[in-house]
Amino acid sequence: MTTTLEPVAAAVSSGPLDHLHEALRDLKPSATVAINERSAELQRSGRQVFRLGFGQSPFPVPEVVVEELRQHAHRKDYLPVRGLPELRQAVADHHRMLGIDYGPEQVLIGPGSKELMFHLQLAYGGDLLLPSPSWVSYAPQARILGHRIEWLPTQAEDGWCLRAADLDRLCRQQPERPRLLVLNDPSNPTGSAFSDEALEELAEVARRHRLLVLSDEIYGLLNHDGEHGSIARFYPEGTIVSGGLSKWCGAGGWRLGVFLFPEQLSWLVDAIATLASETFTTTSAPIQYAAVRAFQGGPEIDDYLFQSRRVLGALGRRVASRLRTAGVEVAEPRGGFYLFPDFSALAEELHGRGIDSSEALCDRLLDEAGVALLPGSDFGRPAEELTVRLAYVNFDGRQALESAARIAPPIPLEEDFLRDCCGDTLEAINRVCDWLDVRD
Ligand code: PMP
Ligand code: GLU
Repeated sequence: MTTTLEPVAAAVSSGPLDHLHEALRDLKPSATVAINERSAELQRSGRQVFRLGFGQSPFPVPEVVVEELRQHAHRKDYLPVRGLPELRQAVADHHRMLGIDYGPEQVLIGPGSKELMFHLQLAYGGDLLLPSPSWVSYAPQARILGHRIEWLPTQAEDGWCLRAADLDRLCRQQPERPRLLVLNDPSNPTGSAFSDEALEELAEVARRHRLLVLSDEIYGLLNHDGEHGSIARFYPEGTIVSGGLSKWCGAGGWRLGVFLFPEQLSWLVDAIATLASETFTTTSAPIQYAAVRAFQGGPEIDDYLFQSRRVLGALGRRVASRLRTAGVEVAEPRGGFYLFPDFSALAEELHGRGIDSSEALCDRLLDEAGVALLPGSDFGRPAEELTVRLAYVNFDGRQALESAARIAPPIPLEEDFLRDCCGDTLEAINRVCDWLDVRD
């Protein structure tokens, strides 16, 4: 008998590393996912852990959307690759009301925006331009695909927001390259948001250098002041808008993301849809039906968003101000549920305690104060810079929404509310501050 199996057997026995795709050999599990699993593991072993590491919405999915999912649980057929037509229409209508006018045929639905981003980077072969800091997964996706990554500088005094002049400077250095710029507004990890003026200036530079822009607006409905900014208003022809249910609708585990493209980029929509037909095929049918209800909105969802923003705004400001009393610098939060505290002013004391990187800082805070955070280095900051990302989400979102609804605006959500509803978050921040105070 001929031995067609022999080469396979030989290959298997020559060791697993030889056969792992080269791009995956140094790849570590995503930092966000890793801290989530590590925190859960520590809790299972009996440790008390304040989980400010993983960025998951604390709020329940709105009941009207959950009810819609119940009604559609029986849906079992595969849906079109690009998504359920009613959902694509609802997504286009929803964005039109936010001033982003792309047609339903230009909408793609996917199993999470993270997956769509990977497909975008697979389909578009340009360099990736990322402001530093940026969310953890954009750069690893580019690395897996062998794309060049250019990090753009930002300044703490600007709330770490990218300046148009810095973008322009980088683009002038290598004028002819195809490039994808990712802007995340409001930002994970900083909680900052761009002003309309800043977006307009960035749009001008993007147009001049013919950049493709991915505007990651997954926290867009969680701007604490309720205003949704988008570079797509100023540079529609070159901007892809990214969103989904994970953050504003509290449904990260449902895995539904959306991309909206301008007409000029129909070729890219077609390419990604073709790719998707060979990869994820389509997104879960019951979830897509429920998502129609979420994107159609209405008074229940408006109320839910209003209270979510109110709680996040009050808590974010409170956490930032407490950290400042301990000498930690932090930009005032404008949206989403993250802060990016900078411990550099305390570097001398921290160095004295053997801490000379953001990773060491997070390890020690987890071990000694029981507070889980992520190091700034996971977001593209220099390893020795003492920045961390803090997700202020370790509270019971259902209780917070119900209690906030009983406090009629304009009465603000004050200390009593925060102590009752977000006590664990305040406790975690006190622990960080007390830990800083410890003198060896
Ligand atoms: N962008 C940012 C900035 C995020 O924080 C996340 C985290 N969920 C994503 C994209 C991906 O979201 P999802 O895949 O759940 O749509
Ligand atoms: N976006 C969340 C975070 O930054 C977690 C989910 C994920 O990374 O996919 O923590």
